Amino acid sequence: MQFDLRQLARNGGDDHLDRTFQPAQFDTPEAKDEDYAVVAPVHLVLDVHKDRDAYRVTGRVQTRLRLECGRCLEPFEIPVDSVFELRYVPAPANAGPGPAHHGHGEVVEAEVAEDDLTTAYYKNETLDLGELVHEQFVLALPMKPLCSDACKGLCPSCGTNLNKGTCDCKPAWKDPRLEALQGILDRNKES
Ligand SMILES: [Zn+2]
Ligand SMILES: [Zn+2]
Repeated sequence: MQFDLRQLARNGGDDHLDRTFQPAQFDTPEAKDEDYAVVAPVHLVLDVHKDRDAYRVTGRVQTRLRLECGRCLEPFEIPVDSVFELRYVPAPANAGPGPAHHGHGEVVEAEVAEDDLTTAYYKNETLDLGELVHEQFVLALPMKPLCSDACKGLCPSCGTNLNKGTCDCKPAWKDPRLEALQGILDRNKES
């Protein structure tokens, strides 16, 4: 999932890409730590425009992701259809080996103050499309993943999925207003 930027020079500084990646291509060891799994082909469309030693990249990524519900822990899927505009600049020489540091490096932010584009880095004259797509997925994830707004979650006592069944556990809390009412009823009974 790499795009060779040297190819761009041969095309006069602009290039259009239309690629589809299979879910299995995202099934890497690092992906085990992610909060999502890719469950449909990933369709990526990109326009790359060379601007001195930077590259302006606009595009769109579409797929489906599987997430885990934060309340009932059941898997569910969301569609992803994200458009993005990024500026790729050369990775700082002192970044060293290892994964490219993306996003909010202070040095780069000062350099690109003339526009609001999100900054990413390229190395070895190559755009890492896997990293690009990953960043878009992270941005597309909901703050609180829920299978449904109405998800009832799990019983805190016995773990029953309350969307699928009921249990005999009593709610741990009591409404103080009802408690007061119960007191009145009890007194009336006594008299
Ligand atoms: Zn749920
Ligand atoms: Zn229960």
